[in-house]
Amino acid sequence: MTAANVNDGKRLDQVLQAIVIKRKCPPLRRNKHLCADAGYRSAENLRIIDEHGYIAHVVDRKREADAKRRHPNRKARRWVVEVAHSWFTNEGHDRNQLAPMAIAAREAMGKAKLQAVADRGYYSGTQIKDCDDAGIAPMLPKPATSNAKAEGRFGKADFIYIARDDEYRCPAGQRAIYRFTREENGLQIRRYWSSACPQCPIKKQCTPSDYRRISRWEHEPVLDAAQRRLDMHPNAMTVRRRTVEHVFGTFKHWMGSTHFLMRTLPNVGTEMSLHVIAYNLKRLIGILGIARTIKAMRLLGA
Ligand code: SF4
Repeated sequence: MTAANVNDGKRLDQVLQAIVIKRKCPPLRRNKHLCADAGYRSAENLRIIDEHGYIAHVVDRKREADAKRRHPNRKARRWVVEVAHSWFTNEGHDRNQLAPMAIAAREAMGKAKLQAVADRGYYSGTQIKDCDDAGIAPMLPKPATSNAKAEGRFGKADFIYIARDDEYRCPAGQRAIYRFTREENGLQIRRYWSSACPQCPIKKQCTPSDYRRISRWEHEPVLDAAQRRLDMHPNAMTVRRRTVEHVFGTFKHWMGSTHFLMRTLPNVGTEMSLHVIAYNLKRLIGILGIARTIKAMRLLGA
């Protein structure tokens, strides 16, 4: 067992030395298999697994999901969830948490790159940009906040941005060209509209104003890239729900429908961290069993 902020693969060699699986059946001449999550996919870890005489099964979640779809009754070869990093905040929303937590999680896992999947409560343009600057690829759905869409008119997604010309193609096929940039809440927002709006035959479906104005943040390409990643991984939110939310469901089940026992942010954060350690420890015991967990802890001097 290592601390929560140590890369999974760092102690793989010691763990495999400690965990000698003596099999009576099937006989030794049959191959031994080792299932691990994508955190063990480095060439070094695969070499260690191979040296210990195992056939590695290190699959990414997409391949696992595909396999499950093909054989729904077959148990997944790997299904382990660990809490790599936890935090506690008294902010009433998650919109400022995406970048700091993704960066902290990446450091905890010892990764150079990371794909961060979050729910729409974390959506923030500046946070997505901070992730992008840090080399982290975030993937999260955009909250539906468009009044126009809610009122049955065209939403922003109905306007196609033409990067080459820096203009939008509107649903009527007209060009909405760049007009000016202004600062809104510290962000540089570019404005576009078409001169054809007053004569447009479908104007009622578009805007109650004289012109339909389209806003574009100066760093909007990073938001477009996040949306493209999500479009390319249509299962991402399902995988996030079933891997992450059950951890919190488990915590709530353990704690009951009660409040934290501690008071003040540092103390509550400590209480939460203890729950996380307990969760990881119980998972470890569930996977290895008590004897092998103790053996591994002793080997590592814990
Ligand atoms: S109102 Fe303007 S922006 Fe909207 S569809 Fe018509 S021309 Fe295009």
